Amino acid sequence: MIVEQVWTANDYRNFNYLIVCPETGEALAVDPLDHNKCLTAAKANGWQITQVVNTHEHQDHTGGNDAVIAATGAKLLAHANAVGKIDGIDRGLVAGDIIKVGKTVELESLDTPGHTMSHVCLLSHTDQPALFSGDTLFNAGAGNCHHGGHPNELYTTFATQLAKLPDETLIYPGHDYIANNLRFTLDREPGNERAQTLLDDIDNQDPNAALVSTLALEKEVNTFFRLQNPTVIARLREAFPELPEDLDPKTVFLKLRELRNSW
Ligand SMILES: [Zn+2]
Ligand SMILES: [Zn+2]
Repeated sequence: MIVEQVWTANDYRNFNYLIVCPETGEALAVDPLDHNKCLTAAKANGWQITQVVNTHEHQDHTGGNDAVIAATGAKLLAHANAVGKIDGIDRGLVAGDIIKVGKTVELESLDTPGHTMSHVCLLSHTDQPALFSGDTLFNAGAGNCHHGGHPNELYTTFATQLAKLPDETLIYPGHDYIANNLRFTLDREPGNERAQTLLDDIDNQDPNAALVSTLALEKEVNTFFRLQNPTVIARLREAFPELPEDLDPKTVFLKLRELRNSW
């Protein structure tokens, strides 16, 4: 499996992806907002885009569909419940569906509500798995729930699906928000040395050659995976003195999400 991460350099800091079968050159485009860059990258490498997947219905993920499909004839795939929210879906995805790319690539559709209620992540069936996480999981952060989502479901997605993936899973998010997210982690957990060294490393990184994290690294630097951390909990009590003595991980997650909304 070849993964081409396409940095759009737009104000929203979107990442688009091409996932390619090295044997046949067939490619699947994930959220190809910057259709010019995606089509150019495919052409330069001799790849044929045969499928487009939208992780969810937001315009900064679907806005390149028409141009890519007009140029390539690709089929459009998205969450089955996104029918009516995204025009022209050829295949609605449910949990466990397998998407084949060429001869060698298999991607599993994960039903991951929270950022919106019709959001899919793609998990590759490769020796080292890769997760294309859209706006659900960012490097060192979690998606917001302002535009059609719910924090309860986002928590459930994190706790019951993402946290259980293999530690070596590569994380390919829909946006480059890592620097700001690491600053939030350090605000919540000032002694997190791994987050501080990572921030020093990536603060001025070229997003055209962005760091690709793993789930293991996320568990060290992503506050939304550190719900039992004593410092995170103590700092949360400073912000919300009314919190009960016994704090469950879900409440910690929801309060962190609330703080992040206005941070
Ligand atoms: Zn979104
Ligand atoms: Zn987005």
